[in-house]
Amino acid sequence: MKLWQSQRHEAYREALAWLHQQGLSYYCTCTRSRIQQLGGFYDGHCRTLNHGPENAAVRFLQRHPVLSFTDKLHGTLIADEQLAREDFIIHRRDGLFAYNLAVVVDDSFQGVSEIVRGADLIEPTVRQISLYQQFGWKVPDYVHLPLVLNENGAKLSKQNHAPALPKGDPRPVIHAALAFLHQPEIAHWRDLTLNELLSEAVQSWSLEAVMPASS
Ligand SMILES: [Zn+2]
Repeated sequence: MKLWQSQRHEAYREALAWLHQQGLSYYCTCTRSRIQQLGGFYDGHCRTLNHGPENAAVRFLQRHPVLSFTDKLHGTLIADEQLAREDFIIHRRDGLFAYNLAVVVDDSFQGVSEIVRGADLIEPTVRQISLYQQFGWKVPDYVHLPLVLNENGAKLSKQNHAPALPKGDPRPVIHAALAFLHQPEIAHWRDLTLNELLSEAVQSWSLEAVMPASS
């Protein structure tokens, strides 16, 4: 199922209203430069100031921080404590819903039970888990796969001017990606259609074969 976040505003707004009713959020008018002066993490300054919504962001009131979680590939991952304890933003001052709120509301709505994504998204996971817990929703299983990095150790992205994936036949890229993840070699992949290659890859998929990028 494909969900477009632009069509999900009603669901995000409901989630935001529910958190507000539960006393699990508050308005914050602190500037970015103030938070930079604090060293990058927010100190809960506006928790008790009862600001209204005018020109304010909404922060999640973090009463039950999640300090670690189990990743199916990496095992127990310990969170940065400041990050885990921070009252993070769930609705931005400019009106945009924050990624952590949107992704939890969408994944829960779709009944996602296992989340497989890149290791660059390990950090915010504890924030997302604490949202699941406060909503009373079932926390999914997590797998964070290693990223392909460039020679400077940065992930391949538009920001880093990484070349786009080649247009046309996607099979060589899929074959290379499977090799990067140490999956069993599909020697005859050139003789397979795209769908056949994908279904063979799914059948022979081994999470145990994937090694964390850092090890
Ligand atoms: Zn504030």
